[in-house]
Amino acid sequence: MGFFASFMEFADSPFRLDFSRLLDVLADALSTQVSHSKQHIPIEVGDLYFYTAIFDIPDHPDPEWGDIGFIRHGSEARTRFAGAAIDAGFNPDGIFRVPLRGWMVEKLREHRYQEKMVDTSLVARLVEQAIADPSRLHVLISGDVDMLPAISTVVPDYTKTVVLDTTHPAQYEPESAQSSFRLSQFKFNYEPIYLERHVDRLVEGTYIYRCSNPRCQHIFTRPSPVPAYSNPICKPCYLAKGSR
Ligand SMILES: [Zn+2]
Repeated sequence: MGFFASFMEFADSPFRLDFSRLLDVLADALSTQVSHSKQHIPIEVGDLYFYTAIFDIPDHPDPEWGDIGFIRHGSEARTRFAGAAIDAGFNPDGIFRVPLRGWMVEKLREHRYQEKMVDTSLVARLVEQAIADPSRLHVLISGDVDMLPAISTVVPDYTKTVVLDTTHPAQYEPESAQSSFRLSQFKFNYEPIYLERHVDRLVEGTYIYRCSNPRCQHIFTRPSPVPAYSNPICKPCYLAKGSR
């Protein structure tokens, strides 16, 4: 969810995704598409599965690993994120605990660590579901589309029932051209649902605003409402205004 942080008031503050709002957003987006296609399929939430890997960090890590604060921080954030998904009714069978090892620390530091178990088991689950009930739609929420070729190999017709929910590839630099190309290779029956268009509906919080500075438009939340007579403005913009 690091991606969403870039839409927020403070890019380094955690984006708290509200999973029940996410399900509402998906249901709305699907209902619109289904009604356009004039097929009257009722949209209701089916089985929910959550897939991720979380590092188990030893109580006394090898001092030779150096500062692993960034790994600890990431694991804690992911644990909270997975917990929120479970609270919203997602099945936790796809949450893997991975014991942290020295060689992983090196790769993580160089951004070269790849977790394969999650992709593989997610593909297996999706294939199982697609075969068990071909009339259902299967929404795949994922930041990358690496597993799509594997699914299309096993279930060639899968693009008929799978709805991809992702961030638009144009957001990714510098591989955006490549990702756009890869996405265009799949002939989906349903348009992918792009999450960044719904950020203001996905964030956890009571009073959610979009900064009224047209060059900013970042999302922020407040514990109490911004008075109706004033334009909502995020703190960085407010401070920048004051310093001019
Ligand atoms: Zn702003």
